[in-house]
Parts: sequence; C-alpha cells; structure tokens
Amino acid sequence: MGFTVYNSYSRQKEPFESIEAGVVRMYNCGPTVYNRQHIGNFRAFLFADVLRRWLEYQGYRVEQVMNITDVGHLTDDGDVDGGDKIEEQAKREKLDPRKIADGYATMFLEDIAQLGVREPKSYPRATEHIPEMLEIIEGLIEKGHAYEADGNVYFDVTSFDRYGQLSGNRLDDLVAGSRVEVREEKRHPADFALWKTDPHHLMKWKSRFGPDGFPGWHIECSAMAMKHLGRRLDIHTGGEDNIFPHHECEIAQTECFTGEPFARYWMHTKFLQVDGGKMAKSLGNTYSLDDIRERGFAIRDLRYALIRGHYRQPLNFTWDILAEARSAVEKLDDLVARLRRAAGGQGAAGEAEAGREVLAALRKKFEDGMNDDLNVPIALSALFELRSSVVEGELGQAVARDALEFVERADSVLAVLKMEEESLDERVEGLIGARNQARADKDWAESDRIRDLLLAEGILLEDTAEGTVWRKK
Ligand code: AMP
Ligand code: ZN
Repeated sequence: MGFTVYNSYSRQKEPFESIEAGVVRMYNCGPTVYNRQHIGNFRAFLFADVLRRWLEYQGYRVEQVMNITDVGHLTDDGDVDGGDKIEEQAKREKLDPRKIADGYATMFLEDIAQLGVREPKSYPRATEHIPEMLEIIEGLIEKGHAYEADGNVYFDVTSFDRYGQLSGNRLDDLVAGSRVEVREEKRHPADFALWKTDPHHLMKWKSRFGPDGFPGWHIECSAMAMKHLGRRLDIHTGGEDNIFPHHECEIAQTECFTGEPFARYWMHTKFLQVDGGKMAKSLGNTYSLDDIRERGFAIRDLRYALIRGHYRQPLNFTWDILAEARSAVEKLDDLVARLRRAAGGQGAAGEAEAGREVLAALRKKFEDGMNDDLNVPIALSALFELRSSVVEGELGQAVARDALEFVERADSVLAVLKMEEESLDERVEGLIGARNQARADKDWAESDRIRDLLLAEGILLEDTAEGTVWRKK
C-alpha cells in the first residue's frame, strides 16, 4: 500500500506523489509569538513532525519550513479588524513588540525541541521578509488582482475564480454571514488586506503606500513559503482554523502571483479539546509544557497523548488521559526492555519461523496504518500487539533482534521512546556536573540534595575511582 493523504482541497484521500522525485517540500503554519504556545498548538506542530518523520521513513528528503508570525496577525484572525496580537501583548507587558516576539519565539523553540520535534530547514520570521511581501503585492497590483485604497492594499477576491474552493465558502454567503468586514474603500466586502497603513501601529515599514505600513498575516506565509521552498509546495499544513481565511487567502494571492498551483496537498489538524470542550485562557486550561511537568509528567507522555489519535479526529485532553498515555509509554519501554533481554539469547529455528511471520504481519500493520493518511492509532496498535506476543512468548527469542529493530524504526516516526533516554542522559549528566562542583566546593548539603533528588526519580549515583556513574534502580 502506498502513502495516501487526505487533501482538504479536494476533500478526498489521494495517493501521495511528490513534485520532484525523492524530495518533499512542506510548509507548516507556525506559531504567532504573542504568548507561550499551548498543548493545542503542539498538536498541530506534532502532526507536522510525525508527517515529516513518516516521509523520511519512506526515504524522502524533506525540506520543511515552519514560519514564526511576529507581526500582522490581528485578533479577529481576519485581515481588517482588531489589533495586532503581538502589539496588544506588548502593551499588556509594557514591552517593545519585538521583545515580546523574540521572547516567545525563543520559548517556542525550546518547547518544540523538548517535544522531540525534528528541526526544520528553517524557522523564517515574517518581519525579516517584508521586501519579499512587497514584491508579491506589487506583482498582484500589476496583474490587476490587487488595488490600493487609502494606504491599504486589498486583494480583489472577484479576480480569482477559485476563491472559496478550499473552505467551501461562497462569496455571497461570506457577506451574508458577516464573516467579512464591509468597508467603504473595499471593492468587495470579502476583499482582504495585503498591506495596511496605520500610524499608530508600532512595527511599521516604509513603502510606496506610505511610511506607516505593515503586512497582512496571509501574505507573510505566501512570501516565506516561496522564498524558502519555491513557487510550488508538495504539502502545506495548519490547524483547522487556518483553512479560512488564512489558507484560502494564501492560495488566492500566491496562485495569482505565480500563475501556478501553490500546494499539492493541504492537510489540517483538528483542534485539541480540553475536558471535552474548548481551550481558553479564561478557563485556565491552555496548558504549557511547564504545567505538564508540574503535574509530574514527562514531556514524552504529552507527545504520546497528542499524537496518539488520528489527526482528523477531534482529540480530548484530560489529566487522566495523560496518565493513560504515561502507562502506554511505560508499556512500550517495557517492550523494548524485554526485547533487549531476549536479543541476547538463542532461540530454536522452528520458533524463529513462526515468530518471523508474526513480526512481518505487525510491521505491515504499522506501515499500512501510517500509509493510510497517518493512522497513528492503527500503527500504535501494532506495537501493543507486538508486546502481547512477546509477553506471551509467541515471538520467540530468535526474532527478538529483528523485533527490536522494527520498534526502533517505528520510534523514528513516533519518537516517544528514544527522546526520553536522550534528554534523561543530558539532565542526569548536568546534575552530576553540578554535584561534582558542589563536592569540590565542599558543599555537602548541595551534593546530598542532588543525590537525593535523583534517587527520588529512581536514579542511583555511585562514586567510583573513574568518577561518578549512574544507573536506574
Ligand atoms: P497561532 O499561534 O494561533 O498562530 O497557532 C499556531 C498553530 O496552532 C496554528 O496552525 C493553529 O491552527 C494551531 N492551533 C491553535 N489552537 C489549536 C488547537 N486547540 N488544536 C490544534 N491546533 C491548534
Ligand atoms: Zn500561515
């Protein structure tokens, strides 16, 4: 079975074929850096990571770009109304908007690394691509797809036949449903802003439209995608809220500018819910990685909880669900431990034959699951079935090494097993270093505190002639 993906644009599953053989160019709509990213955002980013990892598992080289929105994303998510999210936060925190963006962007990069996300080719920032945006805007004006009115530049939605194709919105319905802002200067109420003028905006750039301009949110992604990946993408992703207006507008402006189709496959993650409902700051349930840790969970427990569902199904988060995720991860750790032990032994030849068949069937189940529009639940069930076979002694020792290799390959996509080991190593080594320093300083209280801290986590330190070594209890 080849890889098939659900394309939001055609509303059906399609066989995946990259434009250039062996290479996939993928753009992911990234964070707007006006606050700390929450577990809902992480669902969207982890989906992109698993997708990339699955493509790499299949042998593709993936050119992945995830942007950082640091200007122009208005509070109404459209293009005309509301304040700039970053500037509003800057006023709240009484800081420069660039400081706000930089601070939260750094936090985002730290969080995403802890979640085991493979680093994309780049994380471009909107404020660093203003000339590229203006170039597209000029091109659109030249071709009659955009017009200037009072320092603002709007995209003329009636100039693009396929406007509404992605979201299923019809222009008349948008107007009737008040999903667009009627403004005198706009030719059509659904026309969206590419460039805005506002002397009160704090981050602004000079252009021929005036001294106080800043870009619309949608044009940013078109400019960054084209700059870093070229005019045609294989895959473009985002959360379901990005479908309209953000991606609808990206398609319109990019395709009118280049005269070519923009992305082959549009993929969207359903929203994460918390306690069966919406996440909202006012409800206090927009959890960050710190909240997860404070409750005593590892970040890979969260990673598991966020990737374990199918990305097009709603996913719920509760602390109980996270606890279930933790025990699932423990079971997978146990699978690895059992296989490692068994891999040392010798099995009988007959046993190997039967075990190999079981393993081949499970590997196929895993791969078929992932190939079926990233059906992670099916893929995971293959690993749990493998564990049952191992526990019940059905697999046989002779196949343990192959099984271990399979689990490792599977985890190159899921990344719930290795990552903890890596980060644990680093953390423990760091603490041992701090303890050595305390010992050199004859600060015995601190040195004991660190030893006891690790002991409470089940990690035993031993001071040997070669230095301090550690092992799990
Ligand atoms: P933002 O920082 O608001 O620009 O959002 C960054 C990404 O997170 C976008 O792709 C959103 O669609 C996505 N996103 C926001 N909230 C959720 C949620 N509750 N579940 C899944 N994805 C989300
Ligand atoms: Zn975007």
